[in-house]
Amino acid sequence: MCEVLECGRMDLYLNFDKPLQGQETQKLEKFLSGRLSGEPLQYIFGHANFFGYEFFVDSSVLIPRPETELIVDAVLKSIESAHRKSAEILEIGSGSGCISIALAKQLDDRGVDYIINSLDVSGPAIETAKKNMNRHLPYNGKLSFHQKDVFSISSLKRRVDYIISNPPYISADEYERLPGIVKNREPRTALTDSADGLSFIRKLISLFTPFKNSTELFCEISFGQNIEITNLLDSAGMEKYDFIADLSGIPRVLHLKG
Ligand code: GLN
Repeated sequence: MCEVLECGRMDLYLNFDKPLQGQETQKLEKFLSGRLSGEPLQYIFGHANFFGYEFFVDSSVLIPRPETELIVDAVLKSIESAHRKSAEILEIGSGSGCISIALAKQLDDRGVDYIINSLDVSGPAIETAKKNMNRHLPYNGKLSFHQKDVFSISSLKRRVDYIISNPPYISADEYERLPGIVKNREPRTALTDSADGLSFIRKLISLFTPFKNSTELFCEISFGQNIEITNLLDSAGMEKYDFIADLSGIPRVLHLKG
């Protein structure tokens, strides 16, 4: 109803008896039939909130999730505690562009200079991310989105300060059990690697390793994946890492440090 009437929640209660006008009823019916057919609200409305910013979303991109804000928080905290005046960031998996754009906005507010490059294998996702960039950061030459498959990169040409990612970490088995509203509506390649769920994490670790003394990596992980990842890191001889927990205490972000 807020979307139909373009108002806040409080206005609904304040105008409780006000009847809908013709066009408003049509809009509501359109929204309802979308929901009844199993479409997520964010795709019906065409936008979703992330880190306090509105992002355009459509079925080409994953709907930003609140837990992903942890990555933005973690990078900002690291930049602050290291007293960095500038930061170079590489993101793998732009999707809507929500992480990189929220970071850029926050860094602008804090007077920290940056270069952010964000990659996604999907052309339509890159288009959506660019639309969001133009919405939030017009004329900004410091953030850019590129269509590229991370598996086509054998090694990074130069060091960056941060590698960040919310990769498709759902395993092929788990993907089959996802609720229809996710599985049938959001892009498959944004959700699963169609394997054991760890392909992207292994790839990110391999890109990070040559720069491990001076780069940090933040990567969102699935519920329970911290155990497998701990084994992976221990056998690779990686020592400096921890997991950042979400508000429910579940380890949600792998943090590898130099
Ligand atoms: N970075 C985007 C997000 O977190 C897209 C992630 C993805 O497509 N796996 O929403």
